[in-house]
Amino acid sequence: MNPTMRKCRTTARCATRLAAACVAWAGLTVDATAAARRPNVVVILADDLGYADVGFNGCKDIPTPHIDSLATHGVRCTSGYVSHPFCSPTRAGLMTGRYQQRFGHENNPAWLPEDTKVGLPVNQTTVADVMKSAGYITGAIGKWHLGAAPCFHPNERGFMEYFGFLGGGHMYLPGTKGGVEYTVSLLRNKEPLELKEYMTDVLTQEAVAFIGRHKAEPFYLYLAYNAVHTPLQAPEKYLSRFAGIADEKRRTYAAMTSAMDDGVGRVLAALRDHGLEHDTLIFFFSDNGGPITVVPCSNAPLRGGKGQVFEGGIREPFVVQWRGRLPEKAVYDEPVISLDVFPTAAALAGAKLPDGLKLDGVNIVPHLAGEVKTPPHERLFWRMGGGVSWAVREGRYKLLKLNKAASPQLFDLNNDIGETKDLIGEKPDVAARLQRAFDAWNAELIPPLFESPKPAPKKKPKQPVGEE
Ligand code: CA
Repeated sequence: MNPTMRKCRTTARCATRLAAACVAWAGLTVDATAAARRPNVVVILADDLGYADVGFNGCKDIPTPHIDSLATHGVRCTSGYVSHPFCSPTRAGLMTGRYQQRFGHENNPAWLPEDTKVGLPVNQTTVADVMKSAGYITGAIGKWHLGAAPCFHPNERGFMEYFGFLGGGHMYLPGTKGGVEYTVSLLRNKEPLELKEYMTDVLTQEAVAFIGRHKAEPFYLYLAYNAVHTPLQAPEKYLSRFAGIADEKRRTYAAMTSAMDDGVGRVLAALRDHGLEHDTLIFFFSDNGGPITVVPCSNAPLRGGKGQVFEGGIREPFVVQWRGRLPEKAVYDEPVISLDVFPTAAALAGAKLPDGLKLDGVNIVPHLAGEVKTPPHERLFWRMGGGVSWAVREGRYKLLKLNKAASPQLFDLNNDIGETKDLIGEKPDVAARLQRAFDAWNAELIPPLFESPKPAPKKKPKQPVGEE
């Protein structure tokens, strides 16, 4: 018996592998290794999690042993980015593998269940479309935030199974009062149901059940926690872990983070219990940086936070685990981005992309595995508000423009991760090169298709541009 067969834990999975191997032996155009593996892909997305609020990035007061275990058994990407500094555009990029400004998804959609224009444009191919076509079971659990109209429903965007809520957030505790978007019924596919337990626990239970249901099939699971986005809510069983934190908001934020960490632990345990740990690539990152002006979170040592193109808005706690395939306890410093999820998953599935679909991300597995020594990306770009604010990173340098009135600033991230020393006067040639690169990329984009909803007028700290 070959080693691959010995690793099989379930009869059904062995049968799948044997069938795949037979396809390869029959001389078809399927790569034998890829066909035999057909690994699962699990994307765990946190919401508004601070860069420094996980153990592997130095957090001291909130233990995150399960999230940290992904770094222990996988690759910690120190320059792991998202494609936007706030919620919905990042998700549009994650879902399409393309810079979301290419198709006008540059703002948060308002909660408009009747509006068929405010959401992820339906002409865009999603990673779920492609994985489903490749024979994967596709599931989305949690926050959607890519449009509330029926045409934008996850079931219409490639996800065979959905459980969650369609807006930009939700109350966590059953029975809590709030605005319509945050109190709507949960959905199992298109059937409404009531929230009966703590939201984070419910989403975890659904993910564990999904893995159990589909343990014998290759699957793509998108688990989008709304934790640790506001409102800050946690039940006593998590709050009691942090009695030593005096600040009430920080204590609740810690409890919410701890609940999510427990959830990650239960998902990892489910994969392990079903013998899938070596057959599953797992991404974990946050959709944007911590909202430091609203919540006592930390993006240290990064500057700024959610809603800004400083590193604090876009560089995330970012880990990738695939036991047996990727190195363990590894650190990868070249920039990677959430746009890489789609092409990585598609490559693992051996999926064929629709003709003419050009992705901005790349398959990062060969890079993380050390087989490809060149960086995955020559440059990465960000744009907010139709060009009011933007950034470009090329190697060690990052050129950014904070707002309409601001002048561009240049930083050397290798020496100055906190973006404290503007080098624009010292390195005009570098700045000019990055400006040209940004201008060329910007010329490929379209204006935003819709605007973010205006925040309700109430007494709270002034938000950076783009903040929800
Ligand atoms: Ca967010």
